Amino acid sequence: MASRLEKAFLRELRRIVGKENVRTDRETLRVYGYDASLEKGMPDAVVFPANTEEVARVVQLASRYAVPYVPRGSGTCLSGGPVPHRGGLVLEFSRMNRVLEIDPRDRSAWVEAGVFNLQLQQALKPFGFTFAPDPASQKVSTLGGNVAENAGGPHCLKYGVTSHHVLAAEVVWPDGSIEWVDPSSHGYDLLGLLIGSEGTLGVVTSLRVKVIPLPERVETLLAIFDSLLDAANAVSGIIAAGILPATLEMMDRTTIQVVEDSMAVGYPRDSEAVLVIEVDGPSEGLTDEVEAIVRICRQHGVRDIRVARDERERDLLWAGRRGAYGAMTRIQPSTMVADGTVPRTQLPAVLRRVSEIAQKYELIVGNLLHAGDGNLHPNIVFDARDPDQTARARKACLEIMQACVEAGGTISGEHGIGLEKREAMRLVFGEEELRLMRQIKQELDPLGLANPGKVLPEENVAGSPPDRE
Ligand SMILES: Cc1cc2nc3c(=O)[nH]c(=O)nc-3n(C[C@H](O)[C@H](O)[C@H](O)COP(=O)(O)OP(=O)(O)OC[C@H]3O[C@@H](n4cnc5c(N)ncnc54)[C@H](O)[C@@H]3O)c2cc1C
Repeated sequence: MASRLEKAFLRELRRIVGKENVRTDRETLRVYGYDASLEKGMPDAVVFPANTEEVARVVQLASRYAVPYVPRGSGTCLSGGPVPHRGGLVLEFSRMNRVLEIDPRDRSAWVEAGVFNLQLQQALKPFGFTFAPDPASQKVSTLGGNVAENAGGPHCLKYGVTSHHVLAAEVVWPDGSIEWVDPSSHGYDLLGLLIGSEGTLGVVTSLRVKVIPLPERVETLLAIFDSLLDAANAVSGIIAAGILPATLEMMDRTTIQVVEDSMAVGYPRDSEAVLVIEVDGPSEGLTDEVEAIVRICRQHGVRDIRVARDERERDLLWAGRRGAYGAMTRIQPSTMVADGTVPRTQLPAVLRRVSEIAQKYELIVGNLLHAGDGNLHPNIVFDARDPDQTARARKACLEIMQACVEAGGTISGEHGIGLEKREAMRLVFGEEELRLMRQIKQELDPLGLANPGKVLPEENVAGSPPDRE
């Protein structure tokens, strides 16, 4: 297929990054046309830059030729963020994958944007440190993607999400200039603006992150319930008692069954819900914390509560939790996650509502929750090849988001807005706020080429071609 990009553009692009680092063959373009959501697109070229200067030169070139570009880490996004729905370039970071520095005295690390989250964790371990944000996709998701999505993870309940752990970021702005932004400079918080902006305001090429010491002791518990609502109430009870576990994760019966079918980690198949609770910190006092949690779970009708006896048992409990999303495909080939967040006390009511919505649309929903921080992941399973099922899944997803907003929550805990939830932004923001956001985008990216058409519910940004289906 002839590329829609001008020959002169491609020639200059190859001069910047090397011929072998620009791909326009159909197979490659198809592979970079989608992410982990249902959204699809087709880039005109995929570029693999080696360093920040190359990224800056590519961005300058793109703006000279008015070519849209989409930064991409590993494409694990669940909302369509890295999907090139308007064609143009995909800027891929797999060649920028070095941990550049670990400074234990400063408790920081400097990494390139294409470093995998787990790769950083493994590099830090010999120094006795860890990077707290731990998305379940950590084996493959990149730090660039984590920053762009402000990713969370099980341990973010206690330690905070990505934005709490980024000290500074090296950015290529849409005009091609390179700058380090950090929150310590006076004035407006540009770093805050950038984190979670899904590649629409600038491209992050490297970052300095905060690292924390590995805890002295860790205890992992599996609490087994015969009622989903009892489990949800136990979650509220633990937090209300002033206990802040490192993780407080919840899975419902549907999820438990598919996890057991695919991994057999030992979650009881006949239970209605399990909580994976981890506490960590200095040895002293940790036993008291475990006992308090056991007591609260008993008050809420726990059937059984087990403590992992060793590293192997702990890893097994976590393998189940981290693999739960992927295991959903045992039921149906496609999954749509409604990643809403609600005040913890609203969890029982919203879970009830999720179940009603699933019945109304005749769909199976497996609930997986970062329950401690009120973040639901109702996984709607269906077959995307069937238009009727897909339409029902989309409606159910929107209704679940509405239910979260009505309960005082919001439409995304950590998976971002991307393409999939743009319209749902209207559920939480008024026209004035959206206009202010559009003005910020316009100011930083006047040509509208940086990941266009994402996040904000506005179609046909001036100067951009219309969306491609
Ligand atoms: C099985 C599974 C489990 C998951 N679990 C979690 C979880 O527990 N917590 C969570 O928060 N998310 C989770 N996710 C979602 C996803 O993994 C995260 O959003 C992750 O941060 C995306 O990283 P990535 O490298 O794959 O980025 P991509 O998917 O490639 O891109 C994501 C967004 O970031 C932008 N981007 C990428 N790199 C850059 C860059 N260098 N500069 C600027 N913008 C950039 C892209 O344009 C896009 O908008 C999960 C996904 C899957 C499939």
